[in-house]
Amino acid sequence: MGLARSLVITLTLLYTGLQTLEASDWGYWGKHGPKNWPGICRTGKKQSPIDIVTEDAIRVDLGALKFHRYDFAFHGMIMNTGHSVQIQLDGVPLHLSGGNLSSVYVLEQMHFHWSAEHTVDGSRDPLELHLVHYDKKYANFSVAAQNENGIAVVAVLFELSSDDNQYLWPIVEATKMVSHWVGNNMSRIRSKLVPLLLLPKDHTTYYYYEGSLTTPACQESVLWFVMTEKLKVSEAQMNIFKYVQGSNGTLKVNYRPIQDLGNRKVYHRLEGYINKSSSITQDSWSVYTVLGILLGRLLHGNF
Ligand SMILES: [Zn+2]
Repeated sequence: MGLARSLVITLTLLYTGLQTLEASDWGYWGKHGPKNWPGICRTGKKQSPIDIVTEDAIRVDLGALKFHRYDFAFHGMIMNTGHSVQIQLDGVPLHLSGGNLSSVYVLEQMHFHWSAEHTVDGSRDPLELHLVHYDKKYANFSVAAQNENGIAVVAVLFELSSDDNQYLWPIVEATKMVSHWVGNNMSRIRSKLVPLLLLPKDHTTYYYYEGSLTTPACQESVLWFVMTEKLKVSEAQMNIFKYVQGSNGTLKVNYRPIQDLGNRKVYHRLEGYINKSSSITQDSWSVYTVLGILLGRLLHGNF
């Protein structure tokens, strides 16, 4: 090993050590684990993630989400935050709107959880991608996170497959690069990313509910859109995520346990499945019924 290389490693270890002190206030296991996360993480009533009980989800067409410029190719940076790997894209902002959103949301960053945070009917997938957006009317993500509905997260679940997900490879390769770089070190992702390829083909069918950030300070300002269709990830790709080094050793898992749904509702957005329309149908039905009765009475001279 060359002197320069050992020096780099020593400095990296020193830096990692410093980061450990700073970032050790929360983690995914031990005394800083999710059960001991502070404040609203513990006392909140709208916490995330949740288990999505498909049978209980209210079927309604909230409208399709609109992903502006997600089909463009972007250069990006990746960072090992000590809690996940996080990706930020360069260039023009990406916008999310539509659905039941009353504003335009800007993509702030994307990151992964392994295993998945949201479970569906009690079953947990190996990987979940979070595309984190903030309401454009706020100055930045931190301000938006302090405000009701300030944040919109699109969650994509990945199920285990014998085939690699080819669109994940640029990210997986970049993850390898930063797996030992805990802290704010950024690495450029070699090939361009097309965010749309990280969404399922059907990105108009989703579960929706109101919740929180799944990391401290767990602010309850998040509109959650969990895509119904899942993408695939291979064991080989998963092994690279599971090897990422966190602040307190290898980050084998970085998901928060399921939180109580409480009195919240989960909606299942289905194209064309319109509760409103069914009530309209009901209304017109009653109009016809009344007309029918009136006509009947008229014909039978009951007036
Ligand atoms: Zn997340």
